[in-house]
Amino acid sequence: MLWKRIYNFCSRANVQRKRPVNVSLVLGGATALGAGCSLAEYYRRNYHAELSQQYFTKYKISYRKDIDIDHYLLELTPLKQQRSNLWALFGARKLWAVEIKQPDIMVVRQYTPLPFVADSERDLITPLRDGDNGGGKLMFYIKEYGSGEVARWLRKLPKGHIVEVRGPYPEFEFPELETDLKRNREFLWGGESAPQRFRARPFDISLFTAGTGIVTALQLLTTEDPFKGKIQLFYSCKSWRQLGPLGDFLHLCAKQGRVDLHIFESEKGDSLRLGLSKVRDLVSSPFPYSEGAPFEERLQVEPVLSLVCGPDDYVACIAGPRHGLSQGPVMGLLGTKGWDNSNVYKLS
Ligand SMILES: Cc1cc2nc3c(=O)[nH]c(=O)nc-3n(C[C@H](O)[C@H](O)[C@H](O)COP(=O)(O)OP(=O)(O)OC[C@H]3O[C@@H](n4cnc5c(N)ncnc54)[C@H](O)[C@@H]3O)c2cc1C
Repeated sequence: MLWKRIYNFCSRANVQRKRPVNVSLVLGGATALGAGCSLAEYYRRNYHAELSQQYFTKYKISYRKDIDIDHYLLELTPLKQQRSNLWALFGARKLWAVEIKQPDIMVVRQYTPLPFVADSERDLITPLRDGDNGGGKLMFYIKEYGSGEVARWLRKLPKGHIVEVRGPYPEFEFPELETDLKRNREFLWGGESAPQRFRARPFDISLFTAGTGIVTALQLLTTEDPFKGKIQLFYSCKSWRQLGPLGDFLHLCAKQGRVDLHIFESEKGDSLRLGLSKVRDLVSSPFPYSEGAPFEERLQVEPVLSLVCGPDDYVACIAGPRHGLSQGPVMGLLGTKGWDNSNVYKLS
């Protein structure tokens, strides 16, 4: 077809301009163009450079920082720079993860990328600026389990080791808001983030997370065009220190009033599950949401949706158990506060 179109074009050009055309030059150019296209297609198919759900893309380990005996940060750099900017594409509208393959036992596990890149020399991480995809680098906050397969294996790999990644997999999608403004996040680099007035009123959420489930909050709060409403965050962990440098970014978000932090550190004897009667007063009942309502400044969080992310027993305590792959009825703490399946989602 390409040839036919070029041929037709040549004949039209001949008729209109009535000038002799150097056919061999045109054919030579077309051949070169065709060869170029085939080469690009061959390259795309054989090297699988762009991250996709259809095949695995190769990344190398470019940074690892051990936070404590169980937790570490891991940065993966694609062998070929990525063209698409998933941070700009998804913003805070989608919670997303990727799959990393353990080739020896042929299993994959999902991990939630965070919009940070490492500065190995200074041993610190910085958030990616708007419009910058860091060449496609992916940063992860991972917990290793004693008997776990993939997180334990990943931690032992040396810098430069190649791993294979597939995705992205959106896990939860928020309703699209009609907004005119991108939410700023200059404060993440120590700057000032002026208050913004959006056209429509953003909605607030409650987020219940335990352990590495905190990555969901971190992705929403630090991504390009971050979550526009307020997040009431209940975070259960052994110690705040296990977040390493990510804890500082969470504190910055709290200082900006973007998140109301309720932290339960078991090493201090704080437990959401054991102190349920006290926690019940902190947890809101669901608020109604009027779509398209005009923007208004509110100090208090008015959650219209609750997300729950953590180990099975934690999810069961907060919102009732999942039934296999289905959500199961909303019970537990949220059930007693009037939440139900229309406004609660148990993340996997
Ligand atoms: C959408 C999604 C995003 C995720 N993002 C992240 C992330 O960013 N960071 C991260 O660290 N993990 C994340 N996970 C969890 C991750 O996919 C793996 O389940 C986890 O790393 C354990 O895998 P493993 O192969 O090391 O252990 P496995 O071989 O699967 O587990 C072996 C044993 O480890 C223990 N174990 C495993 N998982 C848990 C758990 N969650 N709680 C308590 N004990 C457990 C159990 O005793 C289990 O029998 C995510 C999961 C999903 C579904």
